[in-house]
Amino acid sequence: MSRVESLLDALLALERPLLLALDIDGTISPIVRDPDLAQIPASTLSTLAGLAGAPMFELALITGRDLNSLSRMEQLEGVWRAVEHGGLVLAPAQTPPPRELTSKQREALDRFRHWVDTRAHDAFIEHKPQAIAVHVRGIAAKDPGRADQLLREADELAQSLGLHVRRGKALREAEAVVHDKGSALREIFERSDARSVFFAGDDLTDFPAIEFAAEHGVGAFVGSDEQQGAPSGSAVLLQGVDEVATLLSQLLERVTE
Ligand SMILES: [Mg+2]
Repeated sequence: MSRVESLLDALLALERPLLLALDIDGTISPIVRDPDLAQIPASTLSTLAGLAGAPMFELALITGRDLNSLSRMEQLEGVWRAVEHGGLVLAPAQTPPPRELTSKQREALDRFRHWVDTRAHDAFIEHKPQAIAVHVRGIAAKDPGRADQLLREADELAQSLGLHVRRGKALREAEAVVHDKGSALREIFERSDARSVFFAGDDLTDFPAIEFAAEHGVGAFVGSDEQQGAPSGSAVLLQGVDEVATLLSQLLERVTE
C-alpha cells in the first residue's frame, strides 16, 4: 500500500467531523522566491472547495501570511482561517475584529522597521498588523553569508526590543504579540464541532500544530529540499506539495464516491 493510501485510510478512520487543517506555502502552494507570486494551483483550490462543502469535514487554512496576502491566494467559502501564525483566527465568514497595539509595542515595531529599511532593503519584507517578517530566500540563493548575517541581526535586534522572534527556514519575524500555529489549531478545534484533526505543514513554524494534530488525529510533515527533518516520531511524512494535493483529491474522491 502506498504512503498516500495508508494515510487516507488513517484519515477516514478518524472520528467525524474531521478538521482538515493545512499550512499554505510549501504545503498546498509551491514555494517561490517572491511570496507575492506564490499561487495555490487551480486544481487544489477546487479540491479544497469540495472538502469545505463536505459535511464530514471542517476545513482550515493556517498560515504566517496576513489576511490581505491570503485573500490574494484564495476566496474559498466555509473555511476557518488562522493568519499571522495564529495572531488572528477567523471562523468561516467572520469579520476580523479590531486589534490595538500598546504604544510600547508600536515603538518596538517602528524601530525594527527602521533596521529593515536601512539594513535589509534587499530582503522580502512582510509588514503585518502586529509583526514584521524578513524573508531571505532570494538573498540566500546568491549570497548565503549575507542571508545568515541578516537573520542573525534580525534575531538579535528583535530580542533586544522585547519583540518575540519567530524562526523559519529562511525567515526571521519580529512579533509584538506571541502566538503560534499550535494554539491557533487548538482554538479552531475547540470553536468548531470537529472531533479529530489532520494538519500538514512544511516548516519549523508548523511543528506545534503538527504535534497538536498528532495528539488528536494525524499530524503530517511535508518534506522538501530545504527541510527534511520531521518534528517528532509521531508525525507522518509527506513528500512535497504534489503529494499533499494527491492526498486531498483522493480524500475528496473517497468521501463523494
Ligand atoms: Mg509552509
